[in-house]
Amino acid sequence: MKKLLTLLIVAVLVLGSVGCGSQGGGVDVGIAMPTKSSERWVADGDNMVKEFEALGYTTDLQYAEDVVENQVAQIENMITKGVKVMVVASIDGESLTDVLSKAADEGIQVVAYDRLIRNTEHVTYYATFDNFKVGVQQGSYIVDALDLENQAGPFNIELFAGSPDDNNAYFFFDGAMSVLQPYIDEGKLVVKSGQTDVQQVATLRWDGALAQTRMDNLLSANYTNERLDAVLSPYDGISIGILSSLKGVGYGSGDNPLPIVTGQDAELASVKSILAGEQTQTVFKDTRELAKKAVEMADAILKDEEAPVNDTTTYDNGVKVVPSYLLEPVSVDINNWEEVLVGSGYYEKSEITGE
Ligand code: BGC
Repeated sequence: MKKLLTLLIVAVLVLGSVGCGSQGGGVDVGIAMPTKSSERWVADGDNMVKEFEALGYTTDLQYAEDVVENQVAQIENMITKGVKVMVVASIDGESLTDVLSKAADEGIQVVAYDRLIRNTEHVTYYATFDNFKVGVQQGSYIVDALDLENQAGPFNIELFAGSPDDNNAYFFFDGAMSVLQPYIDEGKLVVKSGQTDVQQVATLRWDGALAQTRMDNLLSANYTNERLDAVLSPYDGISIGILSSLKGVGYGSGDNPLPIVTGQDAELASVKSILAGEQTQTVFKDTRELAKKAVEMADAILKDEEAPVNDTTTYDNGVKVVPSYLLEPVSVDINNWEEVLVGSGYYEKSEITGE
């Protein structure tokens, strides 16, 4: 009887541990991504799965199609599945406080991916790019392209920012304005709409269609008799919407060239647009490198080690300064796309040129 009991206990223990461990089908890492509607996030997710698997971890990768409630539900589901660590690129950086405190109750630590998660102490690391610098690169591109140092102007510009619930949107905009504002103050750059406040120029969920509608309205209200020379756009999907609107009123044909239009992410459609002489610039952020950093952080958490960081002052999430690793963005235009995007192996040349 005693023997039988011991056997039973052993059996229960073995079965129990199998149920929890990854060898028994449990998942090690939950990866919550915002949307598949933009190529970059698809690449980010795929790259992380590859990197985690190379280290022997199993993953659960989820996309929430830009619906905040979906993302919260997906994270709750990961907690239920018993993941040991999570990597999260938030849709709304302020809406994960409750769900991350549930995760913390289960001992699950979180790496914020690309976008800072705000208003929670339960975020261990942040892997991202130098987001202020992204904006500086966009603003500087406009300054150089219009040769503002030497030209008297005035030149007309309109401003677009990203989603107001994404912490990055403010860093991009502030970075760009750190370069553009002195020229606006001086009168060399003129924002005819008068819309210069980040909340006025924000684009909810980085939605290109919304940006297109706003551009339509700006053009009809301010530019029926005047030329628009430049548009600050924070993201390729927004740039594509802006360009459709501009082309709709005749820019880009005859003697009416398109304004300078910036962007971000080096998405294929935008790189092709740059080659076609439409979009002017984009900012390349190598998602392979970002994935590596985030995986390194998650791996360190799982091994109870410290991950390397290079910024411990910038990213205050409202509760704490999150130790961060910032990667370098690269400005790309017609002159360096091949060297940067093909040379780095990010794209095959044929994907871009179709040849
Ligand atoms: C990312 C950008 C991206 C934008 C829209 C931001 O948080 O940093 O790379 O363009 O979201 O997806």
